[in-house]
This record gives sequence, C-alpha cells and structure tokens, in this order.
Amino acid sequence: MVDFDVIVVGSGLVGLATANALCKSTMNIAVVDAKHDIYRQLITEQPMIRASAINLASQRFFEDIGVWRDIEESNRVLAFDSIDVFEKHGNARLAADSTHYDYSNLGYIIENQLMLNVLYQRAISQPNVHFLHHNVQELFFSSDRGFVQFDNGQQISAKLIIAADGANSLIRQKQRVPLIQRPYRHQAIIATVETQLPHRACARQIFYPDGIVAFLPLWQSNTSCLVWSAKPVPSRELLAMDDVSFAQALTNVTEACLGDCRVMSERLAFPLTARYCPQSVQDRLILIGDAAHTIHPLAGQGVNLGLEDSRQLVNVILKSYAADQDIGLKQQFRAYQRIRNKDVIAMLSAMQMIQDMFEGESWLKKRARGIGMNVINMASPIKKHLIKYALGI
Ligand SMILES: Cc1cc2nc3c(=O)[nH]c(=O)nc-3n(C[C@H](O)[C@H](O)[C@H](O)COP(=O)(O)OP(=O)(O)OC[C@H]3O[C@@H](n4cnc5c(N)ncnc54)[C@H](O)[C@@H]3O)c2cc1C
Repeated sequence: MVDFDVIVVGSGLVGLATANALCKSTMNIAVVDAKHDIYRQLITEQPMIRASAINLASQRFFEDIGVWRDIEESNRVLAFDSIDVFEKHGNARLAADSTHYDYSNLGYIIENQLMLNVLYQRAISQPNVHFLHHNVQELFFSSDRGFVQFDNGQQISAKLIIAADGANSLIRQKQRVPLIQRPYRHQAIIATVETQLPHRACARQIFYPDGIVAFLPLWQSNTSCLVWSAKPVPSRELLAMDDVSFAQALTNVTEACLGDCRVMSERLAFPLTARYCPQSVQDRLILIGDAAHTIHPLAGQGVNLGLEDSRQLVNVILKSYAADQDIGLKQQFRAYQRIRNKDVIAMLSAMQMIQDMFEGESWLKKRARGIGMNVINMASPIKKHLIKYALGI
C-alpha cells in the first residue's frame, strides 16, 4: 500500500489550492479525483459558462501559492471596481465604487476552468504532489493513519485526509459527519450573456420578489456571467423557455439596466441548499470547501469561504509538520474549527437575512428595505465595513 503524509480527496478549486499550498513543504501529497478530463478542457475563445467572484483574500492566497501570475497573464481576468445592487420597481439601492475606498478594485471575476487549469498545472509540476484518478469508495481509520479505498479496490493511506469532495461529499456521508442543511427556496440558472450596453467593470445585482439576478462582468466589455436565482416554479419556466424568450425575460426583470440581453451559451441549473458541518474536524479527517458548507451564490462567496478554509488549515498543518508533530491529531485544529465555524455561521446568516429581506411584496417590507438599504448606502462607515467583509480582509 502506498503511504502519504496527506491525501486530498477532490480536485475542485479548493482541493487543488490546498495541494498547491501544502507542497511548499516536503510532505508527500496525494490528490484523488475520479474526473481526469477536468483539467484537459481547453479554454475556449469565448468566455466559458462558469465564472466566480474572487475576493481580495482569495487573490492574495493565489499569489502566495504561486498561481496568480499565470491566472492574470491569461488576460481573462476582470477586476471589477464598482457594485450596484437595486430592487426592481423599488427605491432600494446600494452602490459602491473602489475609488471611494483605498482599494484598486472590489474583486475579480474569473472563469472557473481557467483557475482549475492553472492550479492543476502548478500542482502537477511539483515533485511531492501525486495525482490519482480514482473514485473514492470507502475510508477507514487506525490510531495513526487514515485509509482511502478506490473503486478498483486499491488502498492508500496518510496521516491526514482532507475531504474537498464537494457539496454531496461521499466522505461526509460515509463518516456520518453531522450536517445541518436547509434548502434555499431558490434554484440558480447560469449562462453567459451578451448585453447591449457595456458592463463597465460593475457587478450588478437586481432583487425582485421571485428571485435575484446577478451579472458578473467578464473580460469582454459586453459579456457577463449570469447567475439567476429564482423560486422553483419560475425557474422551471425560465429553463423551459427558448433563448429569445429567456433573454427577453432577463431584460425585463433587470429593467434593461444593461440594455437588451442575448444568451450566448447553454443554461445550467443548480438547486441551492444551505449546508454546514459544525464538526468539520474529525480524527485524521478534515472537511473543507463545499464538503463542509454551501451558501447561496447571491454574494459570490462560496469558493472564497472554501479557499479561506484551505489557507487557514494549511497554516496549522505546516506549523505542526515543521515542529515534527503528528499532523493528523485533532486537538491542534481546535482554534481552526472555532474560527471557521464563526465565519461560516456569519456568512450563512447574512445570506439568509438578505434572501428573507427581499422576498415578498408587502408594502411594509418594501418600505423597510428601501429605507434600510438607502441608509446603509449613505452611511459610509457601515458601507466601508461591509465592503471590507466582502473582500475578506
Ligand atoms: C450558481 C453558482 C454560482 C457560484 N458563484 C460563486 C462566486 O461567484 N464566487 C464564489 O466564491 N463562489 C461561487 N459559487 C460557489 C463555488 O462554485 C463553490 O463553493 C466551489 O466551486 C466549491 O469548490 P470545491 O472545490 O469545494 O468543490 P467542487 O468544485 O464540487 O469539487 C469537488 C471535487 O471532488 C471530486 N469528487 C467528488 N466525490 C469524489 C469521490 N468519491 N472520489 C474522488 N473524487 C470525488 C469531484 O469530481 C470534484 O472535482 C457558486 C456556486 C453556484 C452553484
């Protein structure tokens, strides 16, 4: 049986970032993922369908692990310098511009495939990172090791297993890690859209009683990644529409803030669920990223939370390894668990509050949110605080 220091299960953005951060040491790291074509997808000339808002904290983490330059040099990174959040047919508005603060921008919109490719290329070039393309089927533990079994029966072991195997984590299920979950009353539809007016590097979000539309500005001036979260019935109707009717519905619901819209890609749907593992640290096993928590995409923070798990976790592991301690011992991660729980609960609560606040059309609620948002919009210390929070700094 092959033995490693750490096994990272899952090579999505969070798993790959973790492998890249860990390989600074001399540790032997295995990265296991069933999907082996995931990094061979070529970056197409047109923007790719999945893109994420990456905050300043994640960008700095990418810099630290040596991948930011390659991401940036692709010339497909959009640094957005303003945000505009408003309510359809309402007077609530929250707008912010980086020039009013000490930041050069408010974050980046980057295609997921680009980040995956760069993270993979960097990890595979490291002598102490080993990629194994298998489906994990079982795991079990002895007092000093964790064991992972693949679908072909082969086993590997390590002092510590990091589960970054996504929202439906098999490892979480197999180990019966307690999970608190609640479906959001929304499904997200994503697509690439072309808009008549340029986005001017502004991330826009429009709230209406049935849902939330987000335009994430991409590196082409009139192209955005659309994230349209809506209640189940309207979202099913939206999915059933042809491209022209869908684009028309989008233009209407966004009050044509970017002019007429045109759909440039297929549409993908994601059911949305809030998930949270209060005990993501177990003996010789730690869950991170979507395996440990999922949140509504309305604030574009899901992967940022996962990357922060990764950054903080790796700091603890590297210190422990340098001190010649057993990196799999649970007690050294107590502070890590406490801090991550606090961050995740704060983020989940904020998402729930925003979703609840904008749902419904009662006169009173509409008036209250109008006043609330406009007060925040005018109160620069509160707004500055919110922006710092979203930037992760
Ligand atoms: C519509 C939408 C929009 C979003 N927009 C944003 C945004 O703008 N900003 C942001 O920060 N976040 C955003 N998010 C959240 C973000 O996409 C996720 O948080 C992030 O992709 C999770 O990454 P991960 O690496 O934890 O998991 P995943 O990307 O799900 O990776 C898990 C990996 O594990 C592998 N795996 C699973 N099971 C096994 C197994 N048994 N054996 C081996 N391998 C396995 C899978 O093949 C996969 O590669 C959005 C989410 C949605 C749904």
